[in-house]
Amino acid sequence: MTPPRKPKPGAGGLQFRIGYGWDSHEFKRGIPLKIGGVTLPHPKGLGGHSDGDVLLHALTDALLGAVAASDIGSLFSPSNPKWKGADSAVFLREALERIRSAGYTVANVDSTLILAAPKIGPHAAAIRTHVAELLSVTSDVVGVKAKTPEGMGTENAAIAHVVVLLEKKSSGRSKSQKEEK
Ligand code: MG
Repeated sequence: MTPPRKPKPGAGGLQFRIGYGWDSHEFKRGIPLKIGGVTLPHPKGLGGHSDGDVLLHALTDALLGAVAASDIGSLFSPSNPKWKGADSAVFLREALERIRSAGYTVANVDSTLILAAPKIGPHAAAIRTHVAELLSVTSDVVGVKAKTPEGMGTENAAIAHVVVLLEKKSSGRSKSQKEEK
């Protein structure tokens, strides 16, 4: 009989943690289109209880998931009038607070948007820059890609998939001190 395995250290001891988030919102005429906190020129925006920012919602869920801290719908219930029309950056800030208090920082982020229109390419740099600012990271660790929904029948929706990698904060020693060790 094999001896019982030693329990693994708790998740708080992990050097890296990954998170994944997904979201979709339906296009509606006459409201502004916000993606990654950037307002894009388009006749339709994304409906939802908040500002409908599909990318920030998926990113918020990815961060929360990385530290196993619930999800955006549980923390910011769509039935709570407080969040009606809310700027989704508020949700992202709360998720960042949670990963920081768990002892982690954002290493990098990658995302894929799936939508028929508008074209994201001309706005990708602005979205990357803005999301990087919200996360307090440089834009070279934020990936924003886009695809059209071929054969999916989701032409009137925007979908976002986001993965994040978190790294444990340093214990306070400088890099050179660690190298000396
Ligand atoms: Mg959402």
